[in-house]
Amino acid sequence: MKVIILGSGTSTGVPVIGCPCAVCKSPDIRNKRTRASIALQKGSDTLLIDTSPEMRLQVLQAGIDAVLAVLYTHTHADHTQGFDDLRGFYFRNRRSIDCYLMEEYHSEFRERFRYAFEDTGYQGATPQVDLLPMPVGPFAIGDFAIEPVRLPHGHVNTCGFRFGNFVYATDFKRFPADTIERWRGQIHTMVASGIHFGTHKAHSVIPETIELFRQLGVKRGIISHLAHDVDYAKHNAEMPPGVELAYDGMTIDLGATVS
Ligand SMILES: [Zn+2]
Ligand SMILES: [Zn+2]
Ligand SMILES: [Zn+2]
Repeated sequence: MKVIILGSGTSTGVPVIGCPCAVCKSPDIRNKRTRASIALQKGSDTLLIDTSPEMRLQVLQAGIDAVLAVLYTHTHADHTQGFDDLRGFYFRNRRSIDCYLMEEYHSEFRERFRYAFEDTGYQGATPQVDLLPMPVGPFAIGDFAIEPVRLPHGHVNTCGFRFGNFVYATDFKRFPADTIERWRGQIHTMVASGIHFGTHKAHSVIPETIELFRQLGVKRGIISHLAHDVDYAKHNAEMPPGVELAYDGMTIDLGATVS
C-alpha cells in the first residue's frame, strides 16, 4: 500500500492570504501547503480521504484518475469543499463514487451540496455519488480493510482511520484512552494532524501529537495539517527520532509493513 499526502496544510492553507511572514514568503516548496487530504493506493485502487478545496489540483498532481471511494473525516470546509470536482472522475469513468461520512453529518452535507442530491433545476452536471453512513466498526472497501475511530474535535467529532498498521487521523483533540490501549504497539506508520507549537482548543498541537505517537508506540510518525508557524526545514530538523513533518506530495510506501 502506498500513501500520498495530497495536502499538508491547516484550514487557511500556506501561504496565508496577505501574510508577510517568513514561511508564507518562503521559496521552499515544502512550505507550500494545500488543505489536508491523503490518497491510499493498493494495486490500481485508490481511496481518497476528504475532498479538500484543492482536490482537483492535488489529484492532477498525483496522477490519480479514478477513485474507488471517498472517506470523509468530518464536514469542515477545509475537508469537503472540493466535493464538486468529484464530477471529473465520473466524466472519465461513468461510475458513481461511494462517499462515506458519519451519519450525524448527512443532513448538513446534503444541505450544503443540495444541488447534487435533489432535483433543484440546476442545469450543469452534478457530482454522481452515493452518500453512505460510515460504519461504526471495521469494514472493507475492495481490498482495503478499515477500522474507523471516533475522535473529539472541539464541538464536533471526526473520524480517524486505521488500515492494518497504518493510521490517518486529522482534526482531533485527543485519542480515547481505550483506543490507545487497543492499538498500542500495533501501528507502524501514522499520519496525524499537529497544526503548530501553540495551544488549540479543538486540535492536537505538535507536542501533543508527538506524545500520542509515543503512547501508541508508532515507529514512523508524520505530522500534517500544518499552519504557517511551521517552517519545514527548521522544524523538521528539530523533530525527535521517528517523527517528521508532512509536505504536499510526500509519498509513503508502506510495502509489506501493512498487514
Ligand atoms: Zn481541518
Ligand atoms: Zn504567514
Ligand atoms: Zn476540522
